[in-house]
Amino acid sequence: MRVNERPGLLERLEQGPVICAEGYLFECERRGYLQAGAFVPEVVLEHPEVVTELHREFVHAGSDVVEAFTYYGHREKLRIIGKEHLLEELNRGALELARSAADESGALFAGDLSNTNLFFADDESRRTVRAMFEEQAAWAAEAGVDFIIAETFSYAEEALIALEVVKETGLPAVVTLALHQEPVTRDGLSPAEACKRLEEAGADVVGLNCIRGPRTMLPHVRAIRSAVSCHVAALPVPYRTHDGQPTFQSLRDPEFDGLPFPTALDPFTCSRYELAEFGAAAFELGIRYLGVCCGAGPHHIRSLAEAVGRTPEASRYTADMSKHAYLGSDSSLLPENQEYAAKL
Ligand SMILES: [Zn+2]
Repeated sequence: MRVNERPGLLERLEQGPVICAEGYLFECERRGYLQAGAFVPEVVLEHPEVVTELHREFVHAGSDVVEAFTYYGHREKLRIIGKEHLLEELNRGALELARSAADESGALFAGDLSNTNLFFADDESRRTVRAMFEEQAAWAAEAGVDFIIAETFSYAEEALIALEVVKETGLPAVVTLALHQEPVTRDGLSPAEACKRLEEAGADVVGLNCIRGPRTMLPHVRAIRSAVSCHVAALPVPYRTHDGQPTFQSLRDPEFDGLPFPTALDPFTCSRYELAEFGAAAFELGIRYLGVCCGAGPHHIRSLAEAVGRTPEASRYTADMSKHAYLGSDSSLLPENQEYAAKL
């Protein structure tokens, strides 16, 4: 295990907010290093420098956590692309990249388990997913992670299995569910009820991540906050989902002939200010583990961090329009340009 004298996750949550940047799949895809569709993080092996850079950018922008990019780096995803033989190398590689980025910055180092897409609530799939979680959790524990995130589960029972496996490592567990259009888990529980069961089973932090944007996630994390006594997590996608189209897969764009998810969601992207608003509202409710999932850029993370009172290194470059040639107010600016501002 890594010798770590910095405060751990639970100590940090007692003191205040913890920001966790997620969304590595989407950001690496946008940068041209990962293929949408199968969404397997082969970038870890093919272009590790891209992953390292993104870890650094997210920390610079305010993330307190460096999450190993093992999301969808599990046995089933590698099987689909015919590369199961790379499973261990990819996982250990991703953990090593995250560990270095965490060590150099003082951020927390997190392992990551995710939905397997193989869970169907029968005994065979229970055994299969448990074995998948066990191998990934063991690699994470060996790499010396500070805690393990188990995320994006639509089945509460699959999340509970992941949690059991994480608990066996003795590490703190952050478990987050993903809510589809129907605001219940695929096994029919309200998110509040599902999170209560996760808390009872020993999760340290419970909540929601991915799929829903700020507007359609907030009411559900509010209900979770009232239902549990442990810490609560909220990591929406930065898209303008709404009551009629509550998930990023259900968003429809009249200007685009096809499904906007996952590669044409740009017109729905939230501004950084919407993420700030979400962060402030969630923090006000008592939700302390905050982040942004698929679609997040560093500017979203910075705004979220600033909204809960943090000043990450990137705050040095937070917008200041006072010196804008036309729109600014500074006395050094030329009045000829300022007078023209309304015509821009
Ligand atoms: Zn996501």
